Amino acid sequence: MKVAIKTLGCKVNQAESDILATTFSREGVEVVSFGEEADLYIVNSCAVTKEAENKTRQMVNRILRNNLAPRVILTGCYARLISQERKNPFKEPVFLLPSFPKEREILNLVEKWWGKKFPLAEYPLPPRARAWIKVEDGCDHFCSYCLIPHLRGEVRSEEKEKIIRQAQALEREGIREIVLCGINLGYYGKDKEGESLITLLRELLDNTSVVRFRLSSIEPFLVDEEFIERYFSLPDRVCPHFHLPLQSGSDRILKSMRRGYDAAHYRALVSTLRRYSPQVAISTDIIVGFPGEEKEDFENTVSFAQEIGFSRTHVFVFSPRPGTPAFLWEKEIGIPKTEKKNREKILREVARENQRKYHHLFLGKKLKVLVESAQKGMGSGYSENYIPVRFRGNSKQGEIVEVTIEKEGDGFLEGNYNSSVQ
Ligand code: SF4
Repeated sequence: MKVAIKTLGCKVNQAESDILATTFSREGVEVVSFGEEADLYIVNSCAVTKEAENKTRQMVNRILRNNLAPRVILTGCYARLISQERKNPFKEPVFLLPSFPKEREILNLVEKWWGKKFPLAEYPLPPRARAWIKVEDGCDHFCSYCLIPHLRGEVRSEEKEKIIRQAQALEREGIREIVLCGINLGYYGKDKEGESLITLLRELLDNTSVVRFRLSSIEPFLVDEEFIERYFSLPDRVCPHFHLPLQSGSDRILKSMRRGYDAAHYRALVSTLRRYSPQVAISTDIIVGFPGEEKEDFENTVSFAQEIGFSRTHVFVFSPRPGTPAFLWEKEIGIPKTEKKNREKILREVARENQRKYHHLFLGKKLKVLVESAQKGMGSGYSENYIPVRFRGNSKQGEIVEVTIEKEGDGFLEGNYNSSVQ
């Protein structure tokens, strides 16, 4: 029996797919890669942009066209969207599974087809060096452009004890970096008395001994000085890396996006972060071409990005999502496509320059790198501050090693292996 799982979109989808992959392989089902023939294909989809939707449809069509499997399960946010809109473009053999939690739903369906029972794996072990734990689902912030709250529902935090047991199991298996992820991670604990992301981190650190922790992304409106202070008072197994989605550097646009902060708040966060950790990595997401984004708004975003000096920037072109307020605004005050593309190009250039400057800070320094691939005396992986690093020297996949940085490559750093850290 073979199953292939294709994951699109965010880290939460990846974490959910990992649970499925583990569950299947524990039960003796072979998990094969995309493109190979299988008895079942599962596409864990994304609907965050129009492009993500198109990609999902293309993926499913490719599976059908190439006869890669007799059955396809489509799940994730796009499945949820087309079932809500009652506009399912697929028929058998594509089965739609829009509801949450999708893991159990998928397993129920597969159990029916194969007449076999699959327990839900409590501790998914990833097929790679880094592991993700999904600690939260849902968001009730309703930014004016975002469909996710409509698709994922309100905030639900995972039980702390379960997360700790999962982290301990991963550590026992040799995992050395765990990324905590959620749809809106900073809301962890909102639905639970006395719980917060910081108290969760504290307990994870108290109950593990070597694994390092990273936060996948945290919204700037959920971070304040106290949060940062408490974060940096934790043991140094928390990574000096914050992904704080900025979205725009213009207060006018931030307001219309309903982001709940302004540029001054963001600037203050960055300066507090740097006070505690001068070379902390600050990465971000920025949307260009939001409806009504005047030239001046875009210029504010560009100069703000230059001022902050992000270590890494994901630039997105605004994509109107039906059912959101910004979808209607796009018709009235949308930015022409060519102008959107032009702004994307400019900002990507700024992003590259920022990244280069950030990487430059580490020439001659030592970085702790989680080895994701190692062969023939060469290794590569990500440092604590999320810089891709390639190095010469023997190492093992999954270990954390110290590397002395010697030179810069295009989007990465290069150096020599010094020693194993654990
Ligand atoms: S915070 Fe805003 S962008 Fe993020 S999931 Fe919630 S509504 Fe969407």
